[in-house]
Amino acid sequence: MNLDYSAEHLAFQEEVRAFLAENWPPKGVDLDLDRAAQVRAFRLKAIDRGYLYRGIPRRFGGSEQTADPLKARIITEEFIAARAPREIEGNGISRVVPTLLQWGSEWQKEQFIPPAIHGDHIWCQGYSEPGAGSDLASLRTKAELVGDEWVINGQKVWTSRAHVSKYMFALVRTEPDEPRHAGISYLLVPMDQPGIEVRRLRQITGGASFNEVFFTDARTPADWLVGERGRGWEVSRTTLKFERNQLGGPEQGRELYRKTVGLARRTARGGGQAIKDPEVRQWLTALEGFVLSSYWSGQYQFSKDAKGEDTGALGYMNKFVTMHTIGMEVARIVHELIGDDSMLLASAVAHGTGTDTGEDSAVTRRPTRVVGNERWVNQILGSLAATMGGGTSNIQRNIIAERGLGLPRDV
Ligand SMILES: Cc1cc2nc3c(=O)[nH]c(=O)nc-3n(C[C@H](O)[C@H](O)[C@H](O)COP(=O)(O)OP(=O)(O)OC[C@H]3O[C@@H](n4cnc5c(N)ncnc54)[C@H](O)[C@@H]3O)c2cc1C
Repeated sequence: MNLDYSAEHLAFQEEVRAFLAENWPPKGVDLDLDRAAQVRAFRLKAIDRGYLYRGIPRRFGGSEQTADPLKARIITEEFIAARAPREIEGNGISRVVPTLLQWGSEWQKEQFIPPAIHGDHIWCQGYSEPGAGSDLASLRTKAELVGDEWVINGQKVWTSRAHVSKYMFALVRTEPDEPRHAGISYLLVPMDQPGIEVRRLRQITGGASFNEVFFTDARTPADWLVGERGRGWEVSRTTLKFERNQLGGPEQGRELYRKTVGLARRTARGGGQAIKDPEVRQWLTALEGFVLSSYWSGQYQFSKDAKGEDTGALGYMNKFVTMHTIGMEVARIVHELIGDDSMLLASAVAHGTGTDTGEDSAVTRRPTRVVGNERWVNQILGSLAATMGGGTSNIQRNIIAERGLGLPRDV
């Protein structure tokens, strides 16, 4: 593994730095237009120069560059260092766009990709149902073609951000007589219509970013089907692949570790600073071992990727190691460090007075005795969610074993 940049890449790094110095104000300098307008204008320039949305053709609003993981990494590093706006995040850009690029028709790409790039349309993912999570192929929400529209009936659950989304990409059963996987289609559905009811689900943290979505004769045009009718399972594999790649990069583990060490410095234990407590030091050392092995595994995978080589079983382990091994251990250590504060917030939430640091909180009154540890309580409680979303830990274990290590299928 050689992580030095070549002369060509060093020159590219200089070019990116010069672009940023010219087009994005340094820290402390005010933006001259309103922020949203300036960010948008900057992104357009960065696309024009080939720095953002590199894999997306120019005709759909991207910068259409030849794939080069090292250049992509340089751009990320330099944009972060300059605090400049990077690509928009969310379901639209990370899931719908790659799926449409592979499977969508020309008009679908033209209509849906450019607004997703600029974050103008928010998308939600309609996969899980009350009886279909890990076993997604059991889904029962059905769509029937009536004239030139699909008529949809059924229910989705755990649909993140459905309450603010303009569209859903959904898996629905269109061929009831076909065996499980074969009867599913991939539909794009407008959310703002009388046949769709969105009900918020209150979380343990007090926030409500998930929803139940009910379809009662909801409608979407016949040609909002992506890929072939009845082949939606294949299409959905593309979306899931992008979802799994997105979750659990090694950087997340490093960041969590840095913050946990910072908390141990600020917290008291046994009459002194927690960071000086031998037991805490042992926990942190063990955690650092996981974090560093995950980080170097990430560098190794990156190096393989840059050479166009397969990352093998390691590629399947990222989400599990970051979200389960590291995320759960951080939650345990933090719980020990903040002690009673974690229970105070949880009981305050249960009585309707808790805080929530999530974006969709409807709960605003702060409990009186929690002093600065709210986000850590969310980390503790949220660590459980992170072991489920995008495929539970047990399912990840099966994937590592079967696809990564070639072991026999789980009975
Ligand atoms: C933060 C978060 C965000 C989410 N956002 C969305 C979203 O936007 N859209 C969406 O469609 N869904 C979303 N989900 C739902 C998510 O995809 C499901 O929770 C997940 O697929 C698990 O399904 P389930 O909850 O029905 O659990 P189940 O599948 O019922 O699993 C229950 C338990 O059984 C275990 N289990 C199940 N099958 C096996 C097996 N074969 N082998 C071993 N163990 C097994 C699981 O590991 C788990 O412990 C989200 C979930 C979370 C937590």
